[in-house]
Amino acid sequence: MQTKYIVVTGGVLSGLGKGIAAASIGHLLSSKLKVIPIKCDGYLNLDPGTMNPYEHGEVFVLDDGGEVDMDFGHYERFIGVTCKSKWNLTMGKVFDMIRQKERRGDYLGKTVQYIPHVTDLIKEHIFEIAKEEEADLVIIEIGGTVGDIENELFLEAMRQMKEDVGKENIIYVHLTYVPIPHGVNEQKSKPTQQSVNLLKQRGIFPDIIIGRCSQFLSKEIKEKIARFCDVSPNAVITGLDVDDIYEIPLIFEQEGLPEIIHKRLNIYSPPNLTKWKTLIENIRNPEAEVTIAMCGKYTRLEDSYASIKEAFHHCSAHLKCKINIKWVETTNFSDPTLLEDVDGILVPGGFGTRGTEGKIEVIRYAREHNKPFLGICFGLQLAVIEFSRNVCGLKDASSTELDPSTPHPVIDILPEQRNVLQKGGTMRLGSYEAVLKPDTLVRQLYGAEVVSERHRHRYEVNPNYHDLLTSKGMVFSGTSKDERLVEFLELPNHRFFLATQAHPELKSRLERPAPLFYGFIKACMEN
Ligand code: GLN
Repeated sequence: MQTKYIVVTGGVLSGLGKGIAAASIGHLLSSKLKVIPIKCDGYLNLDPGTMNPYEHGEVFVLDDGGEVDMDFGHYERFIGVTCKSKWNLTMGKVFDMIRQKERRGDYLGKTVQYIPHVTDLIKEHIFEIAKEEEADLVIIEIGGTVGDIENELFLEAMRQMKEDVGKENIIYVHLTYVPIPHGVNEQKSKPTQQSVNLLKQRGIFPDIIIGRCSQFLSKEIKEKIARFCDVSPNAVITGLDVDDIYEIPLIFEQEGLPEIIHKRLNIYSPPNLTKWKTLIENIRNPEAEVTIAMCGKYTRLEDSYASIKEAFHHCSAHLKCKINIKWVETTNFSDPTLLEDVDGILVPGGFGTRGTEGKIEVIRYAREHNKPFLGICFGLQLAVIEFSRNVCGLKDASSTELDPSTPHPVIDILPEQRNVLQKGGTMRLGSYEAVLKPDTLVRQLYGAEVVSERHRHRYEVNPNYHDLLTSKGMVFSGTSKDERLVEFLELPNHRFFLATQAHPELKSRLERPAPLFYGFIKACMEN
């Protein structure tokens, strides 16, 4: 079958949910089609791995070790695909490839230009993915908003694609904003008109317009947008504000989006939403409620822990439990009474010293008060430090990441990381297998002996301290095959005290929550 393409752009302002919109379209069309998502980001970093999550949101890690935009989390969760690092095309990667090609002599005798060389490279990259993956449908999301300088080359490439693939094989979806100004109480179309004009100036004429709004778009506003923007009124779709992003596919279906796409692209892949609807109903009608303390240093920006929040949400759908998150900033943490009323404590991944002593105190509280505890990556390392100091009697035990001259480096750099100087893309990244010990909580939760989770770290539990830690009662319930690297640990005498070096939240899905999160929330419910 000829590959079909849907290009998703955004206008007016950022943060309207283009990633969710693209992912929802993918969800709706994936019943009979192989859908492959691609994201183009205009920044010059090779990948977001070197960016501050506080600015850019969570760095999502793929099976293949790619550090990619957090929208890939939405794609994987909504479309059910396992994404590849190649599918995140940044301008940094584009320039890197162009420079390599130029040095190799691929353009010998030519002046290397934005058009055609850069735009050709972008298109070739996309066509290559479509071919490699034997994609029926490729959804290409262009980051940023129309008019940003840094996305112009991607937009130009998208415009040119129409000629390359034939206009019957590509459609353009534009996401805009329809405000209802206070006091005016009327849906306003002007921002959409202006944003579509910006797009048209670039030669892209949208086939479908999604208007983000706090209410369903009225018939009148749809007609108005249709008239000004040259689309048919039924191709103007409401992108409703929702509390739960998993409702977006349902809204799009209700608005008739799948039919329009079927017609325009001459495809047929009817949505199958039965299971999702049931799960969303469960979320809407909880029968229990828990409060989890999320302790970290980026707590102010919830986006930096996006996948953990999603994993909780998936648990809600299966346990019919409302999960409240109490964000606890650990930078100047000195008041454990803050934790008295929570049902469980989660210490997520992290880097650097700020806030760590606070997190260690939080973990001590969880251990001593028998509160369900889940440690993720850095959370595992800090649990080991806490146990070393307060149970094994190693005063000043630490990680060499935090204190290079600690007398007891219970957490130390991975041997293969010792000589790595370059920062970008050099951590232990991607999926690795772990072998789980029989009769442990982890083994029981996964129901399997060998499991594979994604990683992003440089440090590990120092093997020189394994014997001491286990002799004092810590159980290494999952390790790498050679038993060197501690992947999971637990405390058997505790109600639920579990930590992992991996990031299981990255593979959690609405249909199947990550087992550790599921077990953790269940333990919190029993608290
Ligand atoms: N900073 C720690 C390390 O590099 C933990 C990383 C993380 O939590 N992702 O090992």
